[in-house]
Amino acid sequence: METYTGKSILKRIAIGKMRFYSKGEQMVQRRTVSDPEAELARYEEAREKAVCQLHGLYEKALKEVGETGAAIFDVHAMMLEDDDLNDSIRNMIQSQKINAEYAVAVTGDNFSKMFAEMEDEYMQARAADIKDVAERVVNILCGRHDAGDLGEEPVILIARDLAPSETVQMDKSKLLAFVTELGSANSHTAILARTMNIPALMGVPVGEELDGRMGIVDGETGTLIADPEPQVLKQYEEKKQEEERQRELLQTLKNKEDVTLDGKHIRLYANIGSVGDTAKVLANDADGIGLFRSEFLYLEKSDYPTEEEQFQAYKAVAETMAGKKVIIRTLDIGADKQVDYFHLDREDNPAMGYRAIRICLDRKEIFRTQLRAIYRASAYGNIAVMYPMIISVKEVREAKAMAARVEEELKAQGIPFGQVEQGIMIETPAAVIISDLLAQEVDFFSIGTNDLTQYTLAIDRQNARLDNIYDAHHPAVLRMIRTVIENGHQGGCWVGICGELGADQSLTETFLRMGIDELSVTPAAVLPIRKIIRETDLGTEK
Ligand code: PEP
Ligand code: MG
Repeated sequence: METYTGKSILKRIAIGKMRFYSKGEQMVQRRTVSDPEAELARYEEAREKAVCQLHGLYEKALKEVGETGAAIFDVHAMMLEDDDLNDSIRNMIQSQKINAEYAVAVTGDNFSKMFAEMEDEYMQARAADIKDVAERVVNILCGRHDAGDLGEEPVILIARDLAPSETVQMDKSKLLAFVTELGSANSHTAILARTMNIPALMGVPVGEELDGRMGIVDGETGTLIADPEPQVLKQYEEKKQEEERQRELLQTLKNKEDVTLDGKHIRLYANIGSVGDTAKVLANDADGIGLFRSEFLYLEKSDYPTEEEQFQAYKAVAETMAGKKVIIRTLDIGADKQVDYFHLDREDNPAMGYRAIRICLDRKEIFRTQLRAIYRASAYGNIAVMYPMIISVKEVREAKAMAARVEEELKAQGIPFGQVEQGIMIETPAAVIISDLLAQEVDFFSIGTNDLTQYTLAIDRQNARLDNIYDAHHPAVLRMIRTVIENGHQGGCWVGICGELGADQSLTETFLRMGIDELSVTPAAVLPIRKIIRETDLGTEK
């Protein structure tokens, strides 16, 4: 039995087999082989397995995001049937007598470069797909696991690091927990773990040696136990049962109102990153969606999602929520949320760089496409829009002007749309300081405490070395929240919190006493927060 410690992302227990996931970007060694025919057979087997995986991913995506979102996996499977690509790989193996993985990696690189240099934009975008497909086959040939393919049994995933784009593509039903060596507790990968409601540990010095062994993740103490002794395993199984009992107890709060003892109604909403997360919102009985991180629609894909694809996704969420509020945050790409096809330059300080509303107001076509999709979907439910990373009144006016233009366009085309409330995220100190002015421009504020904390304390939320001083309870952050609520109310806005702090049960009463109107939290936190709201009496002094 071995014990490792790290930073806990979610206080739950997981017990199961561990599986090591390594990224495909490692070097592939060139080897000469004595039997090229056997190597060709290995290639053929791996290729067929990859096609099979892609068909599986297509079926899964079809259920989760619909036909248009799933189509990419079909395109990838078709690439593996392509004669030019296959001839090139087979020829290399036979003529140079080399190992299959090297032939696939080199051919993948060559084809990808060739596509990238083509005139046609559509063909250029296929460069990333070729790379993806080649990587999938190389991973199979090297016996590496793909993050999206976790096998049959649910596992505790062990990895050196996980990007948000990898995490979002994982089959959540096969994931008991994940443990990474790198990564910060405030990153989007950590946020995804909370949304998925699975225990996760970061900063644990582990690796390949754990593959296939039995493990326990204890989110309470931040420990990973490998090969637990029988009595330890028994203790944890009992703890896990107790956890289940507590969760069942909270179920009694379903269908109860979010109202304090003295009668103040609070909007208790949930955060989502994908259409699939809506099921968790309903299962946890949230009264709406306070933050739909729309950029995850972009992270799942290898090319810009079209207006139609986005419309289908937003419409599905709006319809499922059946008239309850759905706040869609416009694209917040950049910083730790990177996608190849945006071709963003590398920056020294990406968190303070070209991201979010800055990209949208610069690359207006991308923004317009998204706004059209949001407005079209608004005819099917109660949709609101909010803009991230705001620092000035000018930005808000520009964003609203774009939205107004989109309304005009739709009207002229006879396409229906509903009333779309306009909001902004307050996640920069600049926005806090001018929140009195910003309140004149919008219907609501949603405080993004994750970024607000990083910019206020000058601590990069991605820097794992600073996790111990990233203090979201810092008085500066709490005073800012109070200021925003006061300024918002004076200007006629309702005010919410959608950052992770909104789910911090030790602060719920404090926020209620400050006058907060809405808390939007990870779905699993809805019922625990409801319990506190219903037990709080704002009529009594504290
Ligand atoms: C925030 O910054 O608090 C927020 C909700 O946005 P994100 O975590 O996606 O940056
Ligand atoms: Mg943010």
